[in-house]
Amino acid sequence: MTLKSALLRLVEGSPEREALDAGEVDAIIDYGNGNGNGNVILLPGARRALREVGNEAAIANQLLAALPREEYRRLLPLLEPVALRAGDVIQEPGVPIRHVYFPVDCVVRLLAAVQEGHLEVGVVGRDGMVGVSYVLGAQVSSVRATVYESGAAVRIKVALFDQEFRRCTCLQQELYRYADAKAAQARQGAACSQFHSVQSRLARCLLMTQDRVLSKELCLTQESLAGLLGVRRGAVNEAVAPLQRRGLIAYVRGKITILERQGLEAAACSCYRPVRG
Ligand SMILES: [Zn+2]
Repeated sequence: MTLKSALLRLVEGSPEREALDAGEVDAIIDYGNGNGNGNVILLPGARRALREVGNEAAIANQLLAALPREEYRRLLPLLEPVALRAGDVIQEPGVPIRHVYFPVDCVVRLLAAVQEGHLEVGVVGRDGMVGVSYVLGAQVSSVRATVYESGAAVRIKVALFDQEFRRCTCLQQELYRYADAKAAQARQGAACSQFHSVQSRLARCLLMTQDRVLSKELCLTQESLAGLLGVRRGAVNEAVAPLQRRGLIAYVRGKITILERQGLEAAACSCYRPVRG
């Protein structure tokens, strides 16, 4: 079914044809194939608009935006815009990596698993990518990647990514640099959990999350915070209460709002580094 044959079946002068001629229609759904499933045909204007959404979304990711323009344009048709929801698990330990993701305005946390639970080993937002171990030659994920803040991302199938990665030295340089920064962040995190207080780690964790989303309101339940910080829930309460008393944050029903960013930065441990750009 093509656009042309769909148009031929619309009666001249009918309301559908008039709406189409007036440019008010973005897509035609054709149910004429007999199996009950509609065949969606996007009109050129809608196709262009979707491409632009993908385009803008990809630019918003800093790793992709750092590529030379022509390399970036080559990559663009391979990138698929996706909406990720809080709680989605996009990679699991021991499971083959199918896509690498470049977040736009969602936040993904990387968690290492032990029998007793999970511990955060990295956080990825518009500054990075999920699936960095694939860049380093691993076919399966070593971490669980869970979406903590809903939002958009673009993703690419690993087979397509492979071809581009082998070809493009700029992409290699950019992603090796990023992989090294992530490894450094994980090492820092290990030292941080050993030496810094739960309260200062909580402040850092909130700032790092906020750097990667546009909203000041963060959806973090007590349980997820306990998992992120590798402590029991009671310890989360003890860390949240003083920050709340000082008016730096508000915590209501699983939502944390940062009220006074400067104060929270002062309360954060020395491991905190703002996202560039
Ligand atoms: Zn620290």
